[in-house]
Amino acid sequence: MKEIKHFINGEYVESASGKLFDNVNPANGQVIAKIHEAGEAEVDAAVKAARAALKGPWGRMTVAERTEILHRVAAGISARFDEFLEAECLDTGKPKSLASHIDIPRGAANFSVFADLVKNVPTEAFEMATPDGTGALNYGVRRPKGVIGVISPWNLPLLLMTWKVGPALACGNTVVVKPSEETPTTTALLGEVMNAAGVPAGVYNVVHGFGGNSAGAFLTAHPDVDAYTFTGETGTGETIMRAAAKGVRQVSLELGGKNAGIVFADCDLDKAIEGTLRSAFANCGQVCLGTERVYVERSIFDEFVARLKAGAEALVIGPPDDASSNFGPLVSLKHREKVLSYYQQAVDDGATVVTGGGVPEMPAHLAGGAWVQPTIWTGLADNSVVVTEEIFGPCCHIRPFDREEEAIELANSLPYGLASAIWTENASRAHRVAGQIEAGIVWVNSWFLRDLRTAFGGSKQSGIGREGGVHSLEFYTELKNICVKL
Ligand code: NAD
Repeated sequence: MKEIKHFINGEYVESASGKLFDNVNPANGQVIAKIHEAGEAEVDAAVKAARAALKGPWGRMTVAERTEILHRVAAGISARFDEFLEAECLDTGKPKSLASHIDIPRGAANFSVFADLVKNVPTEAFEMATPDGTGALNYGVRRPKGVIGVISPWNLPLLLMTWKVGPALACGNTVVVKPSEETPTTTALLGEVMNAAGVPAGVYNVVHGFGGNSAGAFLTAHPDVDAYTFTGETGTGETIMRAAAKGVRQVSLELGGKNAGIVFADCDLDKAIEGTLRSAFANCGQVCLGTERVYVERSIFDEFVARLKAGAEALVIGPPDDASSNFGPLVSLKHREKVLSYYQQAVDDGATVVTGGGVPEMPAHLAGGAWVQPTIWTGLADNSVVVTEEIFGPCCHIRPFDREEEAIELANSLPYGLASAIWTENASRAHRVAGQIEAGIVWVNSWFLRDLRTAFGGSKQSGIGREGGVHSLEFYTELKNICVKL
């Protein structure tokens, strides 16, 4: 059976403890590989390698040399596109049609975009008067922050990991990555690409394992990591923030959401239906930016519900290799248990199940997979946990509203503030409402349209900090002021 090993100081290594755990294909429940679980020794070795590389050739390279290497990393991912695609789809179960146009190309782009970006960012300079009349000159320089701990989730494994590693390396840092225990393969495979591209040993390190009392906790407890960047659940973010407080290490947290879509009667209904279908059901609903609460103006409520139901029922459920399928399984049976508990709760809370609500019947060879039906509810109270908690499954609740202010109030009513989508053809309303939504990103008449130069992150309990474009530099560099007395 294939084994997935740590990648430390440019080499694949096994766990000294010999501890292995299963990597399961969520489409059929079969074990596809054994993953080495890191103990404190492997995490320490990875951090030491990263520290040494910072002081070694990587730290001495010019920006031009470093970014040229990162372009080779991007090209290396593209050259091995099919291998990355296969690995990502085996780990996650997601349709190849989806991963081939989002996960893998964006994984490569995260290196080339940030390699280009760091070359063109100015800093500041201030001339200052001094009492003796000679004056002083202040100027800013950016320096790498150091060794960055990267902890990533399972929903978009390569994309969300490289979204952090790309800018971290472009800024001259070194990294120790702890991918999700559910989806380690592409993060491990990237080590080969790094070596082939000429990334010096120790710049990119990977340790596998779980969160608490495993690789994740060992990494966040390690005193020689300078900062942590994390994507995952809000509760995990709190735990990581507590660990990072020891030694006053900085954190960048991209956390959970319970995102609202607002559909006004003056929208283009075709666009609103298409966009809401994607935002509720793409990647089997496992997108942090996805819409789980839909507020629809009352005059078009019935038509919207009927058309969204038709769209959900037209989704083609199937395994990654099935070219006609656009709806895969959840990431694991454990996650399905959680999603199904909300499906049950919705019924207990008196929801009308418009469609779905259970497990689809699958052919025998897929019956062991984590399949679940796309699900739509109406009729729940605003305080039902189904409407207030992140489910992270292919489901949404639709509720009517009468006034614009009411829709804004509903959208803003939860402690999360990650993303929102507004559907209206009235430009004044679009700007007026978008400005009032408490979220890090608001789409008007679209969803998941991402320009990597723009700020990305959550407000309220959906995160701390912004990454993307020059904002990534705020986190991945130290801005130092040099004051020269003339
Ligand atoms: P998770 O928080 O369970 O796990 C994320 C990572 O943290 C994994 O690698 C896990 O092993 C690790 N981890 C868990 N406990 C830890 C601990 N105590 N110490 C150190 N590391 C620990 O999240 P998940 O289930 O993998 O991902 C789904 C969640 O991620 C959802 O809440 C989703 O909204 C969120 N998410 C947010 C964004 C965003 O950009 N805001 C993007 C994608 C996913």
